Amino acid sequence: MIEIAEAKYITAQIDFELKGMKIVKVEVNRNPHSFAWFNKSPAEYEQIVQNQKIKEAKSSGSMMRIILESEDELVFGEDIVFSYHDQKQEVGKNQLMLYFDHGMVLEVRTKLYGFFLIAKMDELISKNQYFSKAVQSIGVMDKDFTFDYFINATRMNDGKGSVKEALATDQHLPGIGNGTIQDVLFEAKIRPERKIATLSDNEKKEIFKALVLKTKTYFEHGGRDNTTDLFGRNGGYKVMMSSYNTFCPLCNTELTKKPFLGGKVIYCPSCQK
Ligand SMILES: [Zn+2]
Repeated sequence: MIEIAEAKYITAQIDFELKGMKIVKVEVNRNPHSFAWFNKSPAEYEQIVQNQKIKEAKSSGSMMRIILESEDELVFGEDIVFSYHDQKQEVGKNQLMLYFDHGMVLEVRTKLYGFFLIAKMDELISKNQYFSKAVQSIGVMDKDFTFDYFINATRMNDGKGSVKEALATDQHLPGIGNGTIQDVLFEAKIRPERKIATLSDNEKKEIFKALVLKTKTYFEHGGRDNTTDLFGRNGGYKVMMSSYNTFCPLCNTELTKKPFLGGKVIYCPSCQK
């Protein structure tokens, strides 16, 4: 699943590779997928996107936004896989494909589920609550993301629920999901299921610090190794609290893996309290 650090990394790649490039053709739903969500008809995508140049690409939370010169934007998110390559190379299965005038194509597909939206920002804000929250919040990777903001956004002082619930549900922190928080909480030495009412002020500070540090680290490594970048390459950050690992990299205790609040949590029962 693409989360905040990967969204930022991939859109930086798109901005670098494709800014100013003209889209000569768009193909929508070439290989239909039950959980690929579109907000307009294929004809509307063609009408809006064709012959537009890319103005810039940027991310808000986990939303990857390709902004066209008309100010319409293509927005991708969730379990999205990109493949940017020469037109002569073989094309895979995809749900959206952009052809550029410099002979390159961008294929976009989803594995489990994903969205492929097109509209101007105002329309996206009024019709999509996730987009609206993502563009109107201070992101974890923004320099204005302070400890006070973090405490307010996660409602960590309200005393209800678990750490996972505070960090990764209800869009408290757009772009922060179950994947991102596993190694954040390992770094902070806190278990995902820990009740927030039991956290000391110092532990809350450790979670904040780990969140800022780890998302930056994921970004600097081109994303986590269970996600792929613009070219379909795996990220360089090796996830420690991963389904593939059995033992804690610090103390060698067997990792605990169990379903909790939708999705699996993985932690070291010895290092994390
Ligand atoms: Zn450990």
